[in-house]
Amino acid sequence: MNFPNRETVQRLRREYLVGCRIVLDEMDDPYTKIPIGAQATCQGVDDAGNILCAWDCGSGLSIAFGADHCHKVGTEEEAKVTLEWYGKHQSRENARCPRCGCQMEGPTSHHALSRRAGIMICDEDGMREALEDAGILKRMPLMQWAAIAGPEHGEGAWKG
Ligand SMILES: [Zn+2]
Repeated sequence: MNFPNRETVQRLRREYLVGCRIVLDEMDDPYTKIPIGAQATCQGVDDAGNILCAWDCGSGLSIAFGADHCHKVGTEEEAKVTLEWYGKHQSRENARCPRCGCQMEGPTSHHALSRRAGIMICDEDGMREALEDAGILKRMPLMQWAAIAGPEHGEGAWKG
């Protein structure tokens, strides 16, 4: 068994903030059914350097220090998977817009469906996406959406 020193655990805690999104690269467990590329929400890092995960598939297996490998969501494609996941769990009322973070008053279904992923966004952002697609506005990367950038910067797990 490979145990990390304190500095390593602290570095891991700075990198894997609670709420950030994680992609599985490798899991050294023949019995696990979590596929490579699966995503999870980080729940923290324990004293042994294991990354505590809430996997989208429902599993709660940790990423074992020194044995398993993962990375944070870092590409547009990975961010899209995260946003699709959030879209399936979006609040039906008064959800937060995953793009700008504002609160969307009333039923979520009355707002705009994003052109980027299966998730509802505020009407203003719906307009912005239309203008982006018309070439009038520069396209905003998914990595900059509030639902992705907030958790990556330590604001905790996205709740929308
Ligand atoms: Zn918005």
